[in-house]
Amino acid sequence: MMEQYLALKREAGDALLFYRMGDFFELFFEDAKVAAGVLDIALTSRGEHDGAPVPMCGVPVHSAEGYLARLIKGGCRVAIAEQTETPEEAKARAKREGTPSSKALVARDIVRFVTAGTLTEEALLDPRSANLLAAVVPLRDSVGIATCEISTGRMELEECAPEALDAALARIGAREIVVPEDWEDRPEGATMRARSDFRSEDGEARLKTIHGLATLDGLGNFSRPMLAAAGGLIAYLDHAGRGTLPFLLPPVARSGAAHLAMDAATRASLEICETQSGARQGSLLACVDRCSTGAGSRQLAEDLCAPLGDREAIGARHAAVQRFHRDPLLRADLRSALRGVPDIGRALGRIVAGRGSPRDLGQVRDGLNQARRLRDSLRRAGDLPDLLARMGEALGGHGALTDLLDRALVPSPPTERQQGGFIAPGYDHALDDLRETSGNARKAIAALEARYRADTETPSLKIKHNKVLGYFIEVPAKHGDRLMAADSGFTHRQTMAGAVRFNSLGLHEEATRIAEAGAHALAAEDSHFEELTGEVVSRREAIAATAAALARIDVCAALAERAAEGDWCRPEMLEEACLEVTGGRHPVVEAALAKSGERFVANDCRLGPEDRLWLIGGPNMGGKSTFLRQNALIVLLAQAGSFVPAQAARIGMVDRLFSRVGASDNLARGRSTFMVEMVETAAILRQATDRSFVILDEVGRGTSTYDGMALAWAVVEAVHTTLGCRCLFATHYHELSRLADSCEALSLHHVRAREWKGALVLLHELARGAADRSYGLSVAKLAGVPEPVVKRARAVLDKLEKGRSETGGLAAGLGDLPLFAASTRIEEKPVDVLGERLRTIDLDALTPREALALLYELKREATEPRSD
Ligand code: ADP
Repeated sequence: MMEQYLALKREAGDALLFYRMGDFFELFFEDAKVAAGVLDIALTSRGEHDGAPVPMCGVPVHSAEGYLARLIKGGCRVAIAEQTETPEEAKARAKREGTPSSKALVARDIVRFVTAGTLTEEALLDPRSANLLAAVVPLRDSVGIATCEISTGRMELEECAPEALDAALARIGAREIVVPEDWEDRPEGATMRARSDFRSEDGEARLKTIHGLATLDGLGNFSRPMLAAAGGLIAYLDHAGRGTLPFLLPPVARSGAAHLAMDAATRASLEICETQSGARQGSLLACVDRCSTGAGSRQLAEDLCAPLGDREAIGARHAAVQRFHRDPLLRADLRSALRGVPDIGRALGRIVAGRGSPRDLGQVRDGLNQARRLRDSLRRAGDLPDLLARMGEALGGHGALTDLLDRALVPSPPTERQQGGFIAPGYDHALDDLRETSGNARKAIAALEARYRADTETPSLKIKHNKVLGYFIEVPAKHGDRLMAADSGFTHRQTMAGAVRFNSLGLHEEATRIAEAGAHALAAEDSHFEELTGEVVSRREAIAATAAALARIDVCAALAERAAEGDWCRPEMLEEACLEVTGGRHPVVEAALAKSGERFVANDCRLGPEDRLWLIGGPNMGGKSTFLRQNALIVLLAQAGSFVPAQAARIGMVDRLFSRVGASDNLARGRSTFMVEMVETAAILRQATDRSFVILDEVGRGTSTYDGMALAWAVVEAVHTTLGCRCLFATHYHELSRLADSCEALSLHHVRAREWKGALVLLHELARGAADRSYGLSVAKLAGVPEPVVKRARAVLDKLEKGRSETGGLAAGLGDLPLFAASTRIEEKPVDVLGERLRTIDLDALTPREALALLYELKREATEPRSD
């Protein structure tokens, strides 16, 4: 056995090997140690190998899914080795091969690799989030990325520049990434596969075979890197499924310009799908998501992670949301209908992957039936914008299939296929007959029981059934003798502690009828299952389109619901570089405040070509970050197709969104935080265009005051003058306000605060102009810093401020500093004051005494420093 195990383990490589032994999956050696640690189960040992006991642990087959889920979460990959023959078959084989039957070892084979990116089990997947697998391959100067969600079969191919890879991967958020093993700059934690898996010709050929196409031209324009990545992805799926490929829809090419680009730092700082601490609660997604279905939530998460870059497509989504927004009744109807719709996308994925159950067929049936009813309600409602009309059409067209499934299946089919009982009565007469036969036999057995009780005068006689004996007659031990008699018609089978068990000819006959009819019925159900599955598989693309349409409709209705709930508005999307938000709010902060009964103060933002950079000052805790982020989120929501938390919004299309937060807010990250801040800021300066929107929050604060201010100064100038993009910049460096003199499209703003009876009141209201002072000490007092410390700080501050007013402050002279674009101006020659004086003296008009006095004066002037 060890030999067989070790051979399979070699095949499994770095995956943990689940080795099937009867009702358990066993793990040995290192695998056992790892699994016992992750799963917190007992580590035992078994036999010896090379003179040492073999560590072992095991999990029961019937509850293996839960354990698998935990191992996958713990970052493991698992190879499942199943028994591929029964012990009887093994014995028969041993006999044929002439080995003693005691040595017969059941054949086993790895049937599947379970990895984070290749899960389809309902129990292992979160219904509300996508489970993506990505293959990434560098090719020449570019990188190809193929992604797929195998639970629904969706597949996308894209290509990007190497420096844009991080942003792309951040957007995709794959659970597992596969790369060629020889790639040095591979993303962290990626699974490595042979380079030969990533050949573009193979990728192309496999896509053609899978989709039965002679050419891929009809699907879109796929570049070599995209096809190479597709090749790597399919080869990996093939490996994981041991030759069985999951359901894959035709690939869609994703073009870079189709989306609003955001890098990983921006995503993290905007807390789109999860907060910086990794929780869904508190993220934008959690705050916006009112979807009725898991598929809708997955679609919404994807939309928010990849907002669109195309104004028309965005408008189409807004129109759909608006249709539901203005029709609360239609919205409520649809949303309640959607709530009961099963996840047909994922059920279909399992069916196509060959792991479907009767319940999955039932879900497809119910889902398609409900989809048709939804289509009818949409049609009745009428006046549908394009997107909804299109989605509505995709909901129908499955009449023949649903008729078939309606007739064939019982109302709630079981998850187990082996036990049968899922084909509805009336669908197959032969099956009905078989069922009747076994039903009759069961009745006959009940009648036998009554007759035997009477014949033997033993009212406690029972006919029972168990797995080992089948049907048998049982009487309490004290009545056993009566049935033992040779002519009683009963044959003895077993004597237990308190009971004796018998058989009889009549019972044997009926039991045989049940067993035979049962076996035939099971076989018949099994073949119906195959037929029905085949029907579903043959219509998989249409079913997947229906699933996608359901998700899209759910998202639109949910966004309309959210807009109605929060009084959001439809943004107007424009091409010019403006961002005009009236009464904008931060949806997450607003919701958090509402919980404690506080009101959020709405603020306006007005960026345009003439005034595109707002420098925002004011006290800490005054609401600067909140204002910055709310505007970034408004852009993101708008381009994702949502209404926005504002009274009105006119938004010029944004190509890239950047958000950066000064280092000291990110201390938890450990690395040299200032370094991180600068690396991230550098990325903006390299990548932003005049159509981008940038928010910079206290950038420069991670270092000393002078360095920090100098950097902040230079960054503002670069954003203003070189990039020319829309930008909100929060800072507590007063000195930066001098930039308003040299940067014509920059304006000064501050969050208002008032001191009232010695206490600081933060108004969270944005106003024009520079902040008058920093209120830092008042904030310290507000935060509970002891009074003597605050007093002492005030004394120090007074001294500092006095010094500042005398010298002109830290930034004295910076206002005159030429912008770096103009800093190459030719230096002026220093003025020669002494020469000037000498040239103007009229020597003839001087007395000798005056001349001597002048000479003294000039000498003094030449040796002393000038004071001007
Ligand atoms: P800053 O960046 O100026 O230090 P924040 O934006 O972090 O300030 O805001 C601090 C706190 O003030 C927030 O956590 C929130 O509770 C509150 N706040 C911010 N903006 C508003 C607003 N517009 N209305 C009401 N409360 C706000």
